[in-house]
Amino acid sequence: MVANALSRKNKATLGKPTLWEERQLAELKEMVTELGIILGGEQLALPIVQPMYQEQILQTQSSDIEGSKIRKKMKVGIETPFQVVNNGTLMMGQCLCVPDDEIVKHMVLREAHESKFTMHHGNTKMYQDLKHHYWWPNMKRKVAEYVSKCGICQ
Ligand SMILES: [Zn+2]
Repeated sequence: MVANALSRKNKATLGKPTLWEERQLAELKEMVTELGIILGGEQLALPIVQPMYQEQILQTQSSDIEGSKIRKKMKVGIETPFQVVNNGTLMMGQCLCVPDDEIVKHMVLREAHESKFTMHHGNTKMYQDLKHHYWWPNMKRKVAEYVSKCGICQ
């Protein structure tokens, strides 16, 4: 359902990939291949696995204190579960590291919970969907908290 939603949402911008999208394409293809999805064409890779808000996350990452600490550790050779991909985005595995920024987190949560395609999933389903694309400490708790505060779900 979320994959479908992303696919539809991204259709409008398919014609003009951003620099970020181009840079990520190779990685995305790899992910898609891993998932066992056969590519019909170049365009297919983007909408299926691309998380929303990556531009905003990339921008806010640059001023994120926790993220900076992780980057510093990596620079001096300390092993962490994180990686920095070639455009400078901090990732945890294949997930975007969401900065400690309530506005960005809220944006991600809202999209995962109440976009017209996701229609108020419960917190378990919502967390399952989110964890493929995003990571932040205690994300699961934040998801539960978000759902518990949703006026429509109560
Ligand atoms: Zn709800």
